[in-house]
Amino acid sequence: MRACSSKFLANNILHQVESNPKIPTRALLEDLVQRYSLSISNMKVFRAKAMAKQYVYGDYEKQYGVLREYAMELKSKNQGTTVKIDVEIEPNGLFPGQILTAVGLNSNNGIYPVAYAIVETENINSWTWFLEHLGILAAIEKLFPSAEQRFCLRHVYDNMKLKHKGDELREAVWCCGKVYNIPKFNRAMEKLKKLNPEAHEWLSKIPAKHWARSHFSGRALTDSLTNNLCEVLNSKLDEARDKPIITCLEYIRKYLTKRIVSVHKVLDKCKGSLSTTATTILENNKTEASKMRVLFNGADKYQVTGLWMEQYVVNLKERSCTCRKWDITGIPCQHAIAAMYDKMQNGSECGDPEAWVSKCYWLSTWNAMYQHTIDPINGRSMWPRSDCPTTLLPPKHHKQVGRPKKKRKRQLMSQLKEVKDLKRKKEDVEQDQKLFKQHNAWRAFFFDFIGLIYGKTSNLLNLVGFSFWSWLEMPIARDKSKTEIQEKYCWSLRRMKSS
Ligand SMILES: [Zn+2]
Repeated sequence: MRACSSKFLANNILHQVESNPKIPTRALLEDLVQRYSLSISNMKVFRAKAMAKQYVYGDYEKQYGVLREYAMELKSKNQGTTVKIDVEIEPNGLFPGQILTAVGLNSNNGIYPVAYAIVETENINSWTWFLEHLGILAAIEKLFPSAEQRFCLRHVYDNMKLKHKGDELREAVWCCGKVYNIPKFNRAMEKLKKLNPEAHEWLSKIPAKHWARSHFSGRALTDSLTNNLCEVLNSKLDEARDKPIITCLEYIRKYLTKRIVSVHKVLDKCKGSLSTTATTILENNKTEASKMRVLFNGADKYQVTGLWMEQYVVNLKERSCTCRKWDITGIPCQHAIAAMYDKMQNGSECGDPEAWVSKCYWLSTWNAMYQHTIDPINGRSMWPRSDCPTTLLPPKHHKQVGRPKKKRKRQLMSQLKEVKDLKRKKEDVEQDQKLFKQHNAWRAFFFDFIGLIYGKTSNLLNLVGFSFWSWLEMPIARDKSKTEIQEKYCWSLRRMKSS
């Protein structure tokens, strides 16, 4: 009985605590009682759990002390890995710690994490530092006027909701965003205007090229309206955020390792020439194409008419349709496929619709993107020793790595309530408008500055209260391997500039 110390118990529950740090003490107790047929006090199990946690995660300070060794081990086991540690000689102020991520889209429209960093807090300096190490900042800075940026439509609406809201209005805003061509966009905006003229005016102030499909250039080959891909990664990394630094970094690395393996499994089962998502979209378009009537002009153009008399012009040479779906996504729309079928029927050389799909959706591209795997590393006792004479110390405040989601939402709600409760004088309103303008200006500056698609519920009254979960606009990662990204991104920007 005496041998059944807290230490003994801690050793026994190590795996359970490691796999589920939130496991209730009660569950551990029941398990131990069953295994050893002993009566153990709740307090003892509680202490054992605390010990196990300490063992699994180590303590915050110690982990900073071996951060350099960790980086060396990572680099030695994963050739080509970039690890940068930036230190401040005399840290001033408390830092909450935030995870910054750069995420792209893969050939299957899934997330493709490019880089991540843990920084003291989100601000211009930390973002600049992160992007400089990504190697793309210089290119974007130089060329930002031509970099395409998108605002997450969900967050645009969240901002609008502060003044104008309602289910019908929400529907109308989404309708404006999701239609693919300008005439449809104009009609949707008219409808919105009839519904709520002020909301229409508010939305009109945000250039449509940032949030409406109809105004996207087609360079990024995605019709995404939201930054969901950042949110996907964010939710996956949620567990990591309150852990000590190396545990947090290891959590992310392990997640990425597993993710690559699971994509490999999917890839092994794939058949055909395109990614799964692209195949599904194309098959649907083929079905629709069979219902279309086609008129060929004898050169490169086709007039394609659907069942409901909707009619568009397809130009096969330019890989374009006036419905604009092909232009924006890189996957031939039903009209384009109808034109291809017509061309084939008339005995011309055309090739399968698959061959007309952009290279970024090819199975071979998807495969190439995941050629790179993350190699395992040794345990701490095996890490090389750093000969740096100084020891890294933790920043003064170590909690809240990642995004303190709930708290922000609460803050926002309470401040919104305050706004509502205020009997607003004229100067109050003016002050708010001024702040809002500054806020937007800063945000816009960020967009232009880093060329990222950003979305986050923002706080009208608190300029520092929002976060930049980034979304790199990504023809980059889609058709290039990870190691090529920096170079190609600069290249694609250069090409854009010159065209
Ligand atoms: Zn079309």
